[in-house]
Amino acid sequence: MALGSGVKMAACGFRDRCNMFEGGRLSGFSGIALLFEARYCSGDPAKCVRNKLAEVRGFDSVPSDMYPNDVARARGLMDVAV
Ligand code: SF4
Repeated sequence: MALGSGVKMAACGFRDRCNMFEGGRLSGFSGIALLFEARYCSGDPAKCVRNKLAEVRGFDSVPSDMYPNDVARARGLMDVAV
């Protein structure tokens, strides 16, 4: 099935714990927050480095100020390729 055909990926399992939006790094930046939310949280959480780090090291290891696309920082925090 082609991309953009209405297939929806599963939402992020860490959404209830993630502080990226409410009170977090992207609070107060509604336009950017919407883009991040659509791309990662409800789009493809597997591309979010916060999600990947949480899967590997546990959610408590995710820095509260790390962006979903901060690959360089995530690489420094875990041994697996991101
Ligand atoms: S920012 Fe990443 S870890 Fe947080 S809810 Fe979105 S996809 Fe999940």
